[in-house]
Amino acid sequence: MNMNQNKSKEIMLRSHACFPGGVNSPVRSFRSVGGTPIVFSHGKGKHLYDVDGNCFVDFCSSWGPLILGYSHPNVVSAIQEQAAKAITFGAPSELEVKLAEKIKQFIPQIDLLRFVNSGTEATMSAVRAARAATGKNKFVKFEGCYHGHADQFLVKAGSGLATLGNPSSAGVPEGTTQDTLTAIYNSEESIREIFAQYGNEIAAVIVEPVAANMGLILPKPNYLNFLRKVTKEHGAVLIFDEVMTGFRLAKGGCAEVFGVEPDLWTFGKIIGGGLPAAAYGGKKEIMSHIAPLGRAYQAGTLSGNPLAMAAGLAMLNEIEKINIFNLLEEKGKLLDKIVQQHLGNLIEKNKLCYTRIGSFFCFFFGTNQLPQNFEDVAKTEMSTFNKVYHAWLENGIYLGPSGYEVGFLSACIEEEDMTKLVEVIIEVVKH
Ligand code: PMP
Repeated sequence: MNMNQNKSKEIMLRSHACFPGGVNSPVRSFRSVGGTPIVFSHGKGKHLYDVDGNCFVDFCSSWGPLILGYSHPNVVSAIQEQAAKAITFGAPSELEVKLAEKIKQFIPQIDLLRFVNSGTEATMSAVRAARAATGKNKFVKFEGCYHGHADQFLVKAGSGLATLGNPSSAGVPEGTTQDTLTAIYNSEESIREIFAQYGNEIAAVIVEPVAANMGLILPKPNYLNFLRKVTKEHGAVLIFDEVMTGFRLAKGGCAEVFGVEPDLWTFGKIIGGGLPAAAYGGKKEIMSHIAPLGRAYQAGTLSGNPLAMAAGLAMLNEIEKINIFNLLEEKGKLLDKIVQQHLGNLIEKNKLCYTRIGSFFCFFFGTNQLPQNFEDVAKTEMSTFNKVYHAWLENGIYLGPSGYEVGFLSACIEEEDMTKLVEVIIEVVKH
């Protein structure tokens, strides 16, 4: 690498003495792409700066929350003003009600919701609510969909058939994953098999309605309708995990985009404005099982904390004001055009595939077909992605450091940034 990383390297050395692998979340370690992680110092708009003075155009958005770019003035001032008043109460505040009302205004089908501090908490609590409401234990997830790091989600599929879950992480006892059933994304057959075998025991199906943790995979036409139908027939709760897609794809989320309404939703990232906040919610019949209304316990010292609520509220107010969903779709269409212009040739030669929905985009290398599930993604050329990744860094472009991650467009990204993103790919892939 030609880029100066002296200070990053020095800090990472110290970091290794503090944290497992030098990081507080594994993908940040650069294990997947190789090299030394970039240690950042600050960001402004579309730009991210590291401790060595390198500047990057940001296509990661801190994995989604920073849809308005870094340090948006209204979000910053909302945080500053609230911090001077109170950072946490551990008691009700009007701010949490205001943010909940705003979320319900965006997605009116949500009757009740509960704020938590991370996407992981949201998904694990949503499954608990579904289990409490149905009195059943098993739930279905899809291979390659990520729902956070709670024990019950850390399961790999078997041979793609209806398999009882085996833990895919050390430290997760089989007992905690024995009720996790794993299906193949976009496969009706695998869902049919699971329901044929365990239909009466299934409390919930949890799905990323747009899968954005195995690269980017869109649901096949009518696939979400199919899930809706099957879950309804079997009295199972359908959970849309919109931690990624919520407040990014459309005002009403994936229910609006695909015309399918789940029973429960989970959100994170954008609703905290970059601070730790997440939520789960949906139908009153289900959510009223949550304590203190019901017997399903779920709590949090910092849940609904005023700082995160203020940031989230400022964020949602802003994205509504500037009609961000149209703005990002315009930027996305521009990216499609740039990709077609510059990469059309390489795409025709089967060197790569490109896909996008709204402000999510993804390149898959060494394939002429867009992956439809996790197995397809695993067959793509991650080694080429890794080369492209380092070329992006050298050219001042930052994305999440793994070929299994998506790219994010923020409101600040401009045509010249997208052109650069694409031109770097040509340089690497044509050789
Ligand atoms: N669900 C989805 C769809 C996610 O993408 C993520 C994290 N990227 C999570 C849940 C977990 O969220 P967190 O990292 O905040 O626990």
